[in-house]
Amino acid sequence: VPGLKLLFLGPPGAGKGTQAQEVAAALGVIHISTGGMFRRHMADGTPLGERVRRIIARGNLVPDSLTAEMLLDRLSEPEAAAGYILDGFPRTLPQARALDEAIGADALDAAVVLEVSEEVLVERMLGRGRADDTAPAVRNRLDAYRRDTAPLIAFYEERGIAVRVLGEGAPAAITESILAVL
Ligand code: ADP
Repeated sequence: VPGLKLLFLGPPGAGKGTQAQEVAAALGVIHISTGGMFRRHMADGTPLGERVRRIIARGNLVPDSLTAEMLLDRLSEPEAAAGYILDGFPRTLPQARALDEAIGADALDAAVVLEVSEEVLVERMLGRGRADDTAPAVRNRLDAYRRDTAPLIAFYEERGIAVRVLGEGAPAAITESILAVL
């Protein structure tokens, strides 16, 4: 489905990145990961990367304004006109409003909510070994998810574009479930 504009939503460790990559390839759209963009900035040692390094390592959210600016810049590139999967943005209500203001409600055709039990999330993250996968950072990220990101599910449900998919089991089977509900 060319031109499809999707958001992948779900707790840290839900497999958004893995699934977004697979589904983007299947649909022929680009995959935009804010976490991935921040990690690239940190690896390259850019001023933005240095600014967010400690915030991310502790499992806290980067300020909305910084994140929205980075993401909206990326969305203004011509290739985004052919469709995209947003992975990790919007992650707060202010970010969702910033997206609405910049692009309008047609910025998203669907919000795919990946549902995974907390037990499995923690197990996956602690097995991954990223700099922000330490036990205290994982706890902070789950707290931030419950407080700041989970309200987005109701926000997009009210708009009638939220779809829930079970994110447990074999990765390829999850990809199939996502493509099936789309
Ligand atoms: P995960 O979903 O496993 O937490 P991500 O790669 O999506 O991994 O995000 C890693 C970190 O990057 C987050 O914990 C947060 O610090 C930062 N980050 C990513 N996206 C956003 C966002 N939209 N707003 C604020 N911070 C973000």
